[in-house]
Amino acid sequence: MFLHNKKRVIVTGGAGFLGSHLCERLLGNDCEVLCVDNLYSGSKQNISHMETHPNFEFIRHDITFPLYLEADEIFNLACPASPLHYQRDPVQTIKVCVNGSVNMLGLAKRLNATILQASTSEVYGDPEIHPQKEDYWGRVNPIGIRSCYDEGKRSAETLFFDYHRQHKLNIKVLRIFNTYGPRMLADDGRVISNFIVQAMRGDDLTIYGEGTQTRSFCFVDDTIEGLMKMMETDSKTTGPINLGNPYEIKIIELAKKILDRVGGKSKLIFKTLPENDPRCRQPDISKAQKELSWSPSIGLDEGLDKTVEYFQQNLIL
Ligand code: UDP
Repeated sequence: MFLHNKKRVIVTGGAGFLGSHLCERLLGNDCEVLCVDNLYSGSKQNISHMETHPNFEFIRHDITFPLYLEADEIFNLACPASPLHYQRDPVQTIKVCVNGSVNMLGLAKRLNATILQASTSEVYGDPEIHPQKEDYWGRVNPIGIRSCYDEGKRSAETLFFDYHRQHKLNIKVLRIFNTYGPRMLADDGRVISNFIVQAMRGDDLTIYGEGTQTRSFCFVDDTIEGLMKMMETDSKTTGPINLGNPYEIKIIELAKKILDRVGGKSKLIFKTLPENDPRCRQPDISKAQKELSWSPSIGLDEGLDKTVEYFQQNLIL
């Protein structure tokens, strides 16, 4: 403990989509927030409304290089999460997962701080088990175009559990499934923001493959609530724990829902399915329900309404 009375929290990737929502939530809980981001896929716009807050500090830093700060807790969210962005510089992606985790785990060890890893449903790859439970080891191509992210995040989990076993570090690992909501960037490349922006611009909605692949989408406020609850658990709760909304939908159905909301004359067009694109994804959240007393409270229709409204108010066409 330090000579300050507020809890001091580092959020790596704090200027990203999830990170900026988390920083906001932590400030609301009267924490001091050190937002660390190299702005690879995060943006200053996401945090501009917090910059004058007395408990908020932005540090531009790439966590693949060591970082010396003081804190009580670390949320390790740094890593581009959209396939478009993580494939832009795949070497940097795996470095941020591996070297970045080593640096943050080393920092947590020196500080004796609790560290939470934002892992991902991508550790399950293209799964043979449906829905995915935490004890499923996954089916991941180690040399494909998604591997920098999938294997990077899997290696990060290995590092977290080895630091826990070997150095008794207090770790928390969450496997976050697809999340959406206000503040996704228009050029994020992920499906919900793509479809909303395309519909608003009157462009055709690009369905990859036949659109029969499924995903399960969790509204950002629910995800943030899960992150907060996980950090509050006792030291025996390490995870991994799935965090997501189990409501599963085909991509083509999602496109129709978004088109219904936005209106306009866009059509659905079909493009090549990207390599190694998982055919289905749905979290089994019984562990989160039991260990975190958490389950999502915002359904897809309500969440899409809020997200469409955000883009209608903020997107410059
Ligand atoms: N997708 C699509 N059109 C788009 C963007 C994505 O059909 O314009 C599909 C993509 O192939 C995948 C699903 O939507 O099957 C979710 O893609 P996203 O990039 O949002 O996330 P992830 O694949 O990492 O779950």
